[in-house]
Amino acid sequence: MNRKDVLYLVVPCYNEEAVLPETAKQLLEKMYSMMEREMISRESRILFVNDGSRDRTWDIIEELHGKNPIYMGVKLSRNKGHQNALLAGLMTAKERADMAVSLDADLQDDVNVIDQMVEKYHEGNDIVYGVRSARKTDTFFKKFTAQGFYKIMKALGVDIVYNHADYRLMSRRAIEGLEEFHEVNLFLRGIVPLIGYSSAIVTYERHERFAGESKYPLKKMLAFATDGITSFSIKPIRLITTCGFLIFAVSMLMLIYFLVVYFTGKTVWGWTSTIVSIWAIGGLQLLAIGIVGEYIGKIYMETKARPKYIIEKILED
Ligand code: UDP
Ligand code: MG
Repeated sequence: MNRKDVLYLVVPCYNEEAVLPETAKQLLEKMYSMMEREMISRESRILFVNDGSRDRTWDIIEELHGKNPIYMGVKLSRNKGHQNALLAGLMTAKERADMAVSLDADLQDDVNVIDQMVEKYHEGNDIVYGVRSARKTDTFFKKFTAQGFYKIMKALGVDIVYNHADYRLMSRRAIEGLEEFHEVNLFLRGIVPLIGYSSAIVTYERHERFAGESKYPLKKMLAFATDGITSFSIKPIRLITTCGFLIFAVSMLMLIYFLVVYFTGKTVWGWTSTIVSIWAIGGLQLLAIGIVGEYIGKIYMETKARPKYIIEKILED
């Protein structure tokens, strides 16, 4: 076991002037305590990614760095969103660290489980997921929508870890694996399980935001969820195909029914042909859209140019 592994904490920050000084303080204590116990190398760093903040966030990061070189900063040219900021941080860490832990700037992710994550890493895991044990501090609405989202993703066949957000440890080779995914629509918690390697889970209780306001208003949350679903699944397109098929089948059944009604003379002239064609054409159209969609779905998946495999190990002498 190599106790001298370098750890980078990657913290995306968007307008976080209210929490940043406290976050920096708590993370520093955590890092020093782990260094003293020789869990991590003294070369380890706390890396803040400034995601185009409009407040004093970057000034604070510069000040921190000036006072103590354990603090590092990456400044994005403009606001690119949480996922992209995170990726920028991870890619920066990849060249300098053996492992990186990503966490939010607002101290909602319990910093005390970083120790456990590092332990699991030393036990040979490349990815350690932080999983929320309870959602006590979430509002009913947030809890309901978030859990619904995980269920829908599962139903659509997307392999995501239940109640895991973006609090996780990744080894350097796991980040290198992540780099092979070239998609522009980033939904990290969906991609990370696709990397593979051995992984573990640590559970923690999610705290209340320490200060400041959530940077994920409902509108952003919905966009994020839609992105997550459409980036990973073409099942919604399949749904259209199925619908079209069902409606067409129904129209055929109705044709029989209407013919019976027609021949028993219980209807007016022209009604049968009208109603049957409405159903049949409607069904056929949906079916056709679904088939076209199927091909668009294929093209869509191809354009992502995802890696077809990542080699874990090669045995040779
Ligand atoms: N964040 C970011 N860019 C954005 C929005 C958010 O880097 O455009 C960061 C933010 O600073 C925080 C993390 O993403 O560190 C999670 O955001 P927040 O806590 O506001 O989300 P919530 O916990 O309410 O879902
Ligand atoms: Mg938060």
